[in-house]
Formats: sequence, C-alpha cells, structure tokens
Amino acid sequence: MAITETEALVLRSYNLAEADKIVVCLTRSSGLVRAVAKGSRRIKNRFGAALEPFTLVNLTYYQKENQELGSMRQAEIVKSHFNLFRDPDVLTGLAYIGDLVVEFSPPHQTNDKLYRMVNACLEAIAADPQDLQSILRYFEVWILRLEGFLPDLRRCAECGRSLTEEGGILLSRELELLCASCAQGRGEVLSRKAYGRLCATQVQSPQIFAQDSRGLSAAIQNELAELTHRMIGRVLERHPRVRLAFQTGRI
Ligand SMILES: [Zn+2]
Repeated sequence: MAITETEALVLRSYNLAEADKIVVCLTRSSGLVRAVAKGSRRIKNRFGAALEPFTLVNLTYYQKENQELGSMRQAEIVKSHFNLFRDPDVLTGLAYIGDLVVEFSPPHQTNDKLYRMVNACLEAIAADPQDLQSILRYFEVWILRLEGFLPDLRRCAECGRSLTEEGGILLSRELELLCASCAQGRGEVLSRKAYGRLCATQVQSPQIFAQDSRGLSAAIQNELAELTHRMIGRVLERHPRVRLAFQTGRI
C-alpha cells in the first residue's frame, strides 16, 4: 500500500454508506484520484470543510495497487472558494469544469499542465466571476489541447497554408480549420474575430484572455461557445452532462 502526499483540487464527492464519501480529486502528482473519506459525513470529522468542491488541499491518501479507490487519510485546506458558491451560474460553471476534467482525464495519469491550467482558470473566475463564460471557453480549448484533440489553429488542415494571413477560414464537418480555397464552400465560415479569440487562448493567461474578451459582441461569444461545444461534443460523442447557462437560455 503506497502513501501519497500531494496538492490536490477537490472536484466532487458522492455519499457512500452511512458515514463516508467518495471524493474525486485532481492531484498534482497523480492526476485524477478517487478516494474514500471514512467518517466524513459525521458531524465531527477530521476533514472539516476540506472536501467541499473546488477546495485546494494538501492531500494524503493510500492507494493499493490495482485498486481504483484510494483511502483518504488527511486533507488540509490550502485555499477554499466558498465565496463563489453564492452565484448559481458560477456553481454550474465549476461543476462543468469538474465534469470535463473527469470525462477527459484518465485516472492516475500525471498531467501537471492540466493541473496548473484548471487552477489558473479557477483563480481567474475567483478574481472576477463576471468573466465566467470567457474563462469556460478558455478552459474548453485548453482541455481539448492538453488531451490531444485540438485541431491545428494556425494552418489549413488540407494544404498547410497559414490561416493567420488574410482570407476566409472555414470549419469543416470534421471540425478542422480549412482555408477558403481548400474548403470550396464545404463547411461554415468562421469569423476573423472568433478565430482571433481562439488563437489568443494559446498565448494568453485565462485572466488576460477574459479581460480582452469583455468587449466582444454576444454574437461572437455565441459563435465561440458553439464552436468549443461542438468540438467537445464530438470528442465525447455526446454533450457534456452539465448544461451551461447560455444553453438553457439564461443569458
Ligand atoms: Zn488549404
């Protein structure tokens, strides 16, 4: 039985039996980990508020070889984000981030870039919850990229011509980016503005990306959201389980 100590972000938890929970965490050292927190549903327990979703903790857990579930020994709060829980849209957005991390990230696979990206997005949402939608777009593009599903944003998928020069960009049915002459009308035209924002995710931090996106029209924001959702939906071959606010018409 191996003991691991690592920084971790709590993503969600499920009740188990009468007094326990199964907690799903994105850990820095070992990727996605599911562990039983014994006694965590009792009023007095050693975990306190550390197992609330989106709490950053120093986690100690045991993991037996060939067993999916670990056993949580200790979780100390490094940073909590309870203040974000008051806004239902933010709560839905955070649940969506947690959902996609669980969907995309294989268990026990270390991915330091993913860990840092998710934490940077969380910090950016905490800094200004008004930027939630832009940061969700940023997160979607990056989780696609880190798991190897993001098409080449800079070059036409067929001829390799640079897409950053003038000329139309089309999105093929396979969700690849094509130059106008290769696409020959097959696919949907991607606006220059949406394309520019897509490329900006690759060079900006989530916070700067969100600040730069504040002046975008609703049409461009919707174009971007539709694009990232189609890419993710195609990868998962179904839509994410958590529905976002704009999909339910609340924006
Ligand atoms: Zn081309």
